[in-house]
Amino acid sequence: MYQEPLPAEYINLSQEEIDSRTRAAKKALGSRLVILGHHYQRDEIIAHADFRGDSYKLAKDAAAVPDAEFIVFCGVHFMAESADILTGPNQKVILPNLAAGCSMADMANLFQVRSAWKQIHEVIGQSTLVPVTYINSAANLKAFVGEHGGTVCTSTNAPTAVAWALEQGDKVFFFPDQHLGRNTGAKLGYDPETEMVVWDPFKPLGGNTPESIQAAKFILWKGHCSVHKRFTIEQIEKARVDYPGIQVLVHPECELEVVNAADLNGSTEFILKAVTNSPAGSKWAIGTEINLVSRLAKEQPDKTIICLDPEICPCSTMYRIHPSFLLWTLENLVAGNLVNQIVVPEKIRADALVALQRMLTVCA
Ligand code: SF4
Repeated sequence: MYQEPLPAEYINLSQEEIDSRTRAAKKALGSRLVILGHHYQRDEIIAHADFRGDSYKLAKDAAAVPDAEFIVFCGVHFMAESADILTGPNQKVILPNLAAGCSMADMANLFQVRSAWKQIHEVIGQSTLVPVTYINSAANLKAFVGEHGGTVCTSTNAPTAVAWALEQGDKVFFFPDQHLGRNTGAKLGYDPETEMVVWDPFKPLGGNTPESIQAAKFILWKGHCSVHKRFTIEQIEKARVDYPGIQVLVHPECELEVVNAADLNGSTEFILKAVTNSPAGSKWAIGTEINLVSRLAKEQPDKTIICLDPEICPCSTMYRIHPSFLLWTLENLVAGNLVNQIVVPEKIRADALVALQRMLTVCA
């Protein structure tokens, strides 16, 4: 989405000035305002967040404070959409920079998914196909899933959601992250070589033969996270040599071979808990976004906590929520101007809510 440039008065402010004006704006808005900070945001944003978490936890946090009129979501676009779907009609969800998208979510759009759905049905005959979308997807894809009997999943509950989907039908159509889909299928005991195919939206039949689609249990959308794709087996081997006894913990958006080479894998909330609950002196090499890893290292100095990628791997789209954008958003709210509101159209909202509520029921 297009974001207008910040007014000149917000350019070149010192961090101290941004911080003090942000605090003043927060104070002026009082309980009308809640600021949500995703784990991958920089420290200067997290310092002003009322809640920290992953996308799903934050959307629930926002819904749990129904009196807050303004929900400023320091995350990316699909997260703000999910928050708008899950919060009340009196709550306005705001994304401080409209250009903060998610490269993975952008790898699947409704037009492509509808086309794939039709093509797959033309070759699978009487077999039934159940769509599962990762929460990292646009609201209209969640709505598609809601309409077609499927569910949303998170990186925490993907195995439960996918196992449920396989009880409802013969095959799962998983989008947009092939890696979470493959890792989840493998966790459930399915063979990535013989029971999964990848759907490339730019090729006829997704680049598959009718026979391979007929034989597959999983049809995995060819999407990935540019941050988690950077982690490699070589980095894991090096960490084990450099820090004997280190535990390797990666996110399930990493490639299957990386997940298999790690000691543990799980969502950002899982990573946070595993490290926080470990005893002093523990050593961790973590394969996820650098802001989360650096913050863990700073907050838990009694442990050795390193990022697997020595080149540093920030989520560039999350990074677009610069503290100046947050300040601009809040000062506009104080002045009575509602900027950058994210509104999911009613029909999409209703169908997406069906898919999200199905996830809540299935994964309770
Ligand atoms: S870390 Fe990956 S999946 Fe998460 S917002 Fe960034 S690009 Fe999207």
